[in-house]
Amino acid sequence: MTGMLTDEQLEFRSAVREFCRRESGTREQREKLTDDGREGHSLEINRRIAELGWAAINVPEEYGGAGGNHVDLCVLLQELARGMAPVPWHGTTLITGGIYTKFASEELKKSVLGRLADGAALAISMSEPGAGSDVAALTCRAERTAEGWMINGQKTWCTNAHLADSILLVARTERGDKKHQGLTMFHVPAGTPGLSIKSIDTMNGTEVNDLYFTDCALPADAVVGEVGQGWAQLMAGLATERLILAAQMLGTAERAFDDCLNFITERTQFGQPVGSFQAVKHRLADLATEIECSRLLVYSVAQQADDPARAGDLSRASSMAKLKATEVAKAMSLEGMQMMGGYGYSTEFDMVQHVRTSLGATIYGGTNEIQREIIGRSFGL
Ligand SMILES: Cc1cc2nc3c(=O)[nH]c(=O)nc-3n(C[C@H](O)[C@H](O)[C@H](O)COP(=O)(O)OP(=O)(O)OC[C@H]3O[C@@H](n4cnc5c(N)ncnc54)[C@H](O)[C@@H]3O)c2cc1C
Repeated sequence: MTGMLTDEQLEFRSAVREFCRRESGTREQREKLTDDGREGHSLEINRRIAELGWAAINVPEEYGGAGGNHVDLCVLLQELARGMAPVPWHGTTLITGGIYTKFASEELKKSVLGRLADGAALAISMSEPGAGSDVAALTCRAERTAEGWMINGQKTWCTNAHLADSILLVARTERGDKKHQGLTMFHVPAGTPGLSIKSIDTMNGTEVNDLYFTDCALPADAVVGEVGQGWAQLMAGLATERLILAAQMLGTAERAFDDCLNFITERTQFGQPVGSFQAVKHRLADLATEIECSRLLVYSVAQQADDPARAGDLSRASSMAKLKATEVAKAMSLEGMQMMGGYGYSTEFDMVQHVRTSLGATIYGGTNEIQREIIGRSFGL
């Protein structure tokens, strides 16, 4: 991988590694930052990342960002995940920020992206109880009023909503024959009357939320992009979204690998390290190879995204990266748990957390079945 990064990016990677070691390198530090693991994401760490100028890594400099490219973005997210910095949902903030960068008015860009650069979290809300993989079937309504818009409906699975500065809502403004038409994006600041937020209990602490919109009034300029263009705007950001998730899971896979290797090197049974038994050693060798494949794919897609001559259609490649990186992270964590025996199953070790983190990633951002659909369709099937 070294060959895929410039000297500057290698230095940046070292700086992020050092940051993670210093700020959240121990279990004790992480528990303090996350209310003993109950709160998945630490805004405090997010703000420290912002102080270093990294939070808005891929946001243009004119809006307060670092103006980095896709490779810079992957380096940051991979290393934060590998270092277990308690900011797993910064990826969601960056995905949302990417849509504001592309489509929001100048005024909104300045305020929302400026706050992102200062360490605020953002959320994006598409999914509904009846619209998951088939997200275009969403029914949350936005109706025009004399002053602007009135929102009514329920959303679900909204990452970050409980701690976000604002939520980017996708709602239906028109009912037509085609479900992909008539969708519009809205900027909803935290605390807007008519919006209530309820956390969903998951295996990973507080991370996702149900949202209830009841006669929630928004001003006319809350529209992000164009009325009726919500679907096209969502699609425009998908390649970066999948790459963000892939880079994070690459980091998680690497951390699970490191933790597993440390353990099986030290743990002895029958008078020798368990890692020296061929059955264990070969499994680890296979997983190391899979992680290397994942790394090469993630950075190859990032480089493609950064090259205007090749960035045209990244749909297949970015789905492949998301599919591969999340499945490898899941396999590594589950195998890591098995190779560590009872200690892998104990919360005393971090492998349990790697399992939780990687299981979710095969579901959100479009399930891996949907990624396979996209890849299959790209071959005309
Ligand atoms: C931790 C987490 C964070 C999330 N964050 C957000 C967020 O911030 N914002 C947001 O809007 N949403 C978010 N989501 C929602 C997420 O995108 C959906 O959960 C996901 O798209 C799947 O929808 P669903 O859960 O309704 O499952 P369903 O769509 O009901 O799917 C159930 C099963 O059927 C399979 N399936 C469905 N359709 C097909 C098909 N055509 N072919 C083959 N298999 C199929 C699925 O792969 C899955 O295995 C999050 C979800 C989780 C778990």
